[in-house]
Amino acid sequence: MLTKTPEEIWSHFLEFMEERCSATEFENWLAPIRVLEGTSEEICLEVPNIFVQEYLLDNYKKDLAAFFPPRSNGELSINFRIPEPKKKTAPTASAPTVSLADTQPASSDLKLNPFYTFHNFIEGPANQFVKSAAMGVAMRPGKSYNPLFIHGGVGLGKTHLLHAIGHYAAQNHKKLKIHCITTEGFINDLIDNLRSKSMDRMKRFYRSLDILLVDDIQFLQNRINFEEEFCNTFESLINQNKQIVITSDKPPGQLKLSERLIARMEWGLVANIGIPDLETRVAILQHKAEQKGFRLPHKVAFFIAEHIYNNVRQLEGAINRLGAYCQLMGLDATEEVVEKSLSELFQYSPQKKVCVETILKSVAAIFGVRVSDLKSTSRVKEVAFPRQVAMYLAKELINDSLIRLASSFGGKTHSTLLHAWKKIAGQVQSDDMLRRQIDMARKNLEA
Ligand code: ADP
Ligand code: MG
Repeated sequence: MLTKTPEEIWSHFLEFMEERCSATEFENWLAPIRVLEGTSEEICLEVPNIFVQEYLLDNYKKDLAAFFPPRSNGELSINFRIPEPKKKTAPTASAPTVSLADTQPASSDLKLNPFYTFHNFIEGPANQFVKSAAMGVAMRPGKSYNPLFIHGGVGLGKTHLLHAIGHYAAQNHKKLKIHCITTEGFINDLIDNLRSKSMDRMKRFYRSLDILLVDDIQFLQNRINFEEEFCNTFESLINQNKQIVITSDKPPGQLKLSERLIARMEWGLVANIGIPDLETRVAILQHKAEQKGFRLPHKVAFFIAEHIYNNVRQLEGAINRLGAYCQLMGLDATEEVVEKSLSELFQYSPQKKVCVETILKSVAAIFGVRVSDLKSTSRVKEVAFPRQVAMYLAKELINDSLIRLASSFGGKTHSTLLHAWKKIAGQVQSDDMLRRQIDMARKNLEA
């Protein structure tokens, strides 16, 4: 036993797990993990993102413990490392989007926005899951979630992720035939080919693809003739294990499309992209400012992010406007300058202000515990569970940074809060009693 290297133990663990989880699960969550280093006492693993780490710990802690004996304090003897984003190598404008002209008809060159890469996509709790799924698909097209259906509101990064899959796949799987199209583009293609009686050619082209990326499927609603052709294309590709990714402003079930197509779109993974929280919005602003070579102090980024919160496109608009204003007027970006130049973009929340204290009071009353217990470190179930409910409500109802929210719970960490939110968000789907309790707390808060 002692002679085994950490790499060997890890590969035994993988062999063990391969038998126990589905191929998809294995490919997505376990295969991308790398052993960085290790001693006989502990091992250091590189995970692509925090989501993979959490998934691993949530689902396989026991199995891991069997291979990597826990430390004396009961914690796993595993350290995780997430690779630093490669900041300065900006693979954007300079790296040409790979032209697939050799393998595709000229008309179908991959038209991708060069800025819409994974590298330029800032991740946070509201989009981490969907980004991981998109990366999973880009790394192993046709072998993980198929189709991947991404839905969410306007300006939240759906098109960005779709193109990021295209870029990644084009660069890493050079032989694959990739096509990225808007739903309108698909319809126009269909009309053109019907007109020129070249439907067979079009069918042949679409059905020979390895990856089809379709943006804004909501535009297929009420276009019954086109829907049928799309559905046939879809089935033909899926049956050959070819990857399909679709974006939409609504989940499949809310689209006015045939049941057949809706059911197909729900076959794979349906992932929602949410509104980024405050910290992510700040990071996005800073990233965009940096790209434009524009100095944006953290405090000012924070100020903008507090006032523009529904939509990333608006954040981008704000940066562009502020940048232009500062340049023209020869000013630095300060809060005063921001107020002058951006005030009409600012959103003022009409909602009643809910704070952590009121949430704690409401939850404490419903669960019959004391507010001080909720803020304590007690892990007794009777206290820990209502605390998680309060954390869930805080994240749902208060538009503030996770770090600040968590610290209002007697100095907890943001990952504790996030963990609580995930747990309760999952449980509330199937637990009627919990749903009623949460509704009651919300009503109290609104009253
Ligand atoms: P959607 O298709 O959902 O309407 P887009 O993908 O067009 O939204 O995104 C709108 C703009 O916001 C784009 O310029 C995109 O690069 C940017 N954006 C959205 N989400 C992010 C993110 N997480 N990180 C960086 N930029 C983002
Ligand atoms: Mg879009």
